[in-house]
Amino acid sequence: MIYLDNSATTKVSEEVLEVMLPWLAENYGNPSSIYSLGRRARVAIENAREEIAASIGAHPAELIFTSGGTESDNTVLKSVLEESNLADTLVVGAIEHHAILNPAETLKSRGIKSHILPVDNEGRVPLENINPFNLQRTLISIMHANNETGVIQPIAEIRQATPDALLHTDAVQSFGKILVNVKELGVDFASFSAHKIHGPKGIGALYIRKGIDFKSHQQGGGQERNRRAGTEPVALIIGFQTAVRKAMAEMNFRTQHTTAIIEKIRILAAEKISQIRINTPLENVLPTILNISFTDAHRLDGEAILQSLDIQGVFASNGSACVSGSTQASHVLLAMGLPAAEAKAAVRFSVSKYTTMQEAEKAIEILADIIEGMRE
Ligand code: PLP
Repeated sequence: MIYLDNSATTKVSEEVLEVMLPWLAENYGNPSSIYSLGRRARVAIENAREEIAASIGAHPAELIFTSGGTESDNTVLKSVLEESNLADTLVVGAIEHHAILNPAETLKSRGIKSHILPVDNEGRVPLENINPFNLQRTLISIMHANNETGVIQPIAEIRQATPDALLHTDAVQSFGKILVNVKELGVDFASFSAHKIHGPKGIGALYIRKGIDFKSHQQGGGQERNRRAGTEPVALIIGFQTAVRKAMAEMNFRTQHTTAIIEKIRILAAEKISQIRINTPLENVLPTILNISFTDAHRLDGEAILQSLDIQGVFASNGSACVSGSTQASHVLLAMGLPAAEAKAAVRFSVSKYTTMQEAEKAIEILADIIEGMRE
C-alpha cells in the first residue's frame, strides 16, 4: 500500500494511540463531575488546552475544543452572523473548503449578504479584490492553506488591508506543517483539526480572539465557558495534544522530509508524463501537497485514473467532491481558471513523515503507465 492522501487524513501515530487509551479505559470520568475521577479529566483537558493554545500563540481561554475543522468552520460563520450578531455581511474565498462554502450558502439563503472572492491563477486572493467591500460588520473567511493545491494565502496582509472586518482563517491544512501564529496573522478566529497531523479524527479547535462576545452555536451544557456545549471527548483531546506536541517538535524534520519527496514527485511527473500541468506553485505552499492535471484531460477519465491507482495499491485523490458516484470538477481548479475537463481529472498527491522516497517514485511510475494506457 502506498498512501499518498495525507491531506484527506493521516495515520494516527503510535504515541497518540498510546496516550489516549488510559483516558478511555481507566480515567473515563466526566470532566464536569466534581469527584476526583472527573477532576482528573478536567486537569488533563486544561493542560492540553494550554499546550495547544501555546503552539498557535494564543491564550488558553481563547481556544475551544470542537469535533474538528468542519464544526469550527460552521460555528464561526453561523455564530458570528446569527447567534452572536457580530456581522451582517459574509465574504469568503472562492477556493474555501466546503465546510465554509456550504454554510455560507445556507446563510445566504437565510438573507445574509454574502460575497465570494475570486482568486488569481495560482489560487491566491488578490488584496484588491477585498478592498471594494464595505467592511463594517463584515466577517471575512479565507483559508490559510488550500487542501487541494497547498497554496498559502497572505493572511497577515489581508488583515492589514481589512482592519474593520472580523477575520477568520481555516488553518486545518497548515496547522502543524508550517508555523501558525494567530497573533502574527492577526486573525479573530481560526479553525484547527487533529486528524491531519497524525491525531485522531473527531477533534479540533476553534480560536476565538479574547474580547469577542461570542455566543455558542451549539447549545446545551455550559462547557467550554458556555461557547460549545457537550461533554468533552477527553481521550481525543489528549491525543490531539500529543499530535500537536510531536508536530511542533518534528516540524523541521518533517518539512525537510516531505519537501524532498514533493520535489521528487514534481521532477519525475514532468519527466515521465507529457502534457501535465502542475497546479501547486513553487513558492508559498505547504511542503506536503502536489496537484497535477493533464492538458489533454478531455481524453482521460479522472475517476478511472484514481481507480487504476487504487487497484495497484496507490491511494491518492483528486481533492474534489464525489457526489452520488460521479466526480465533480474541482471548484478550486475551476476558480484558478482551469478548463472543466482538466479540473475533473486532476490528481493530488499529499505526503507525510511516513511516506518514503521509494513509494513516491513507484507511484509516479504507476501513474505514468496508467496515463499512457489511457492515451493509447
Ligand atoms: N477545512 C479544510 C481546509 C480541510 O482540508 C478539511 C478536511 O479535509 C476541513 C476543513 C474539515 O476538517 P474535519 O475533517 O476535521 O472536519
